[in-house]
Amino acid sequence: METFKFEPDVVENLGLVKASIDRAAAEAGRPAGAVNLTVVSKRFEGTQIEPLLVAGQRVFGENRVQEAQQKWPVLRARFEGCQLRLIGPLQSNKALEAVTLFDVIETLDRPKLAAALARAMEKSGRRPECLVQVNTGEESQKAGIAPTEAHAFIQQCLVEYQLPVTGLMCIPPVNEPPAPHFSLLHKLAEESGLSVVSMGMSSDYEIACQLGASHVRVGSAIFGVRPA
Ligand SMILES: *Cc1c(COP(=O)(O)O)cnc(C)c1O
Repeated sequence: METFKFEPDVVENLGLVKASIDRAAAEAGRPAGAVNLTVVSKRFEGTQIEPLLVAGQRVFGENRVQEAQQKWPVLRARFEGCQLRLIGPLQSNKALEAVTLFDVIETLDRPKLAAALARAMEKSGRRPECLVQVNTGEESQKAGIAPTEAHAFIQQCLVEYQLPVTGLMCIPPVNEPPAPHFSLLHKLAEESGLSVVSMGMSSDYEIACQLGASHVRVGSAIFGVRPA
């Protein structure tokens, strides 16, 4: 049987996703530009990411420090104004590397990591924005602070560790409708006075746009199926 490699038109897909974001936000009565797109480039190579950079996309999400360290310095040297967001779990012993490379860290979820990030910021002189990850589904295997503990943890990060916390992030349970989780995250952010709400992926970003996301994280709807 003949096999061939299908290369999706990532730039066309980028345009389609952006149009869907704008449509969903407008339908919910939100102003144009209320929702920002983070293109999730994890496990895709520089050559696949490059057309998006040429097309003007600058905000990207990666889930591993080491992979991002290998891919991004060369891309950044060629395209000005990139913003890199860490969307995967971060070990405390990688805090300095993460602070050095990323502009936003979306996965702050425990006091030990808060302390490590504070030290890393002190040492590096860099202060990437931080989002607190909330485990809205209270899943035992999933990272994130419990919703009931979110407010106290945010205060601890802001006051005790002096971290630049600007918002919240969640990954809803895979087998549940995402809407209640998105609503909960938006409500928690509002209650804590935080404006950044990172939620929604390829399968549900339009719903997130309607429920108050400031940032959606979309990978496979743009790149196609992710390599294993
Ligand atoms: C991989 C990933 C995404 C993007 O997922 P897609 O379904 O490919 O859009 C978003 N957020 C996080 C935290 C991820 O790990």
